[in-house]
Amino acid sequence: MRYGFLGLGIMGRAMATNLVKAGHDLTVWNRDESKCEPLVALGATQEGTPQEVVAGCDVTFAMLSGPAASESVCLGPGGVLDGISAGKGYVDMSTIDPLTSGDLTLAVKDEGGRYLEAPVSGSKKPAEDGDLIILTAGDESLYNEVGPAFDVMGKKRLFLGEVGQASRMKLVVNMIMGGMMTAFSEGLGLAANCDLDQSTLLDVLAASAVANPMFAAKGPSMMARDFTVAFPLKHMEKDLRLALELGGDHTQILPTVEAAQELFALALEQGLGDEDFSAVLKTLND
Ligand code: NAP
Repeated sequence: MRYGFLGLGIMGRAMATNLVKAGHDLTVWNRDESKCEPLVALGATQEGTPQEVVAGCDVTFAMLSGPAASESVCLGPGGVLDGISAGKGYVDMSTIDPLTSGDLTLAVKDEGGRYLEAPVSGSKKPAEDGDLIILTAGDESLYNEVGPAFDVMGKKRLFLGEVGQASRMKLVVNMIMGGMMTAFSEGLGLAANCDLDQSTLLDVLAASAVANPMFAAKGPSMMARDFTVAFPLKHMEKDLRLALELGGDHTQILPTVEAAQELFALALEQGLGDEDFSAVLKTLND
């Protein structure tokens, strides 16, 4: 099986690296082609367009920033559609909305290809460690075929049915995370302003009913005001925006998500988009 990989950002690079290290035959492409170099050094082949990657591979994975990038890489000139043919598989692992994912599946199917959406839960470290949670929906035969590759990239995988269901699940998970990060940042800020020790707050939270790995992982770095990027803030703002659209489509009010999205949008305006999403803290007390 020849695999392709499009998009070697924070996540894609780690996921593609694990595929090569596991011995898979991998061909890569990235818009900024210099990001292919570390993969080529490990034994991957580099191509100049998504079209060439797809034409030369049985199944191609993509890990791109969001809906606009997924559309452009799939439907644009020299894109996935130009290289796809009967039986080939295309697996978009980016976090996108269900409508865009639906458009991509129709376009790929029209050319005889098979489409799977497969957004992931887990950040830079789980991607590096092959510990992602992979949420999939779409073509089940493709899901079964790429199982071994998913098992290299992740620790858990689920098939959720019709295209759109994995995107929806991913957006629900991330809107919860965005809301939690917002409340956590406010809690750290208020604690400091009340002359409470933030590390004691972390201790209390860790022992409490709301203890969770995100507070434990992000708390110390946020206290140290270290916002080294693992999950870019601009992507969390995008996920919250897409979750609000999803809520609108399903008549579900999301007042907390709305407030969180406003705060993340403010952070974007303040130029924090390429910092870690925990940098939303800076909008509260800088
Ligand atoms: P990233 O580091 O910003 O990488 C984004 C990738 O998309 C890069 O390869 C970039 O290419 C490419 N790209 C952006 N616009 C493009 C366009 N118009 N045409 C072609 N390529 C384009 O992001 P990431 O953190 O790896 O995240 C990737 C996806 O995974 C996002 O959908 C994100 O929401 C999701 N995700 C991220 C995390 C995380 O913790 N980081 C966790 C779960 C899910 P260039 O290098 O040329 O800019």
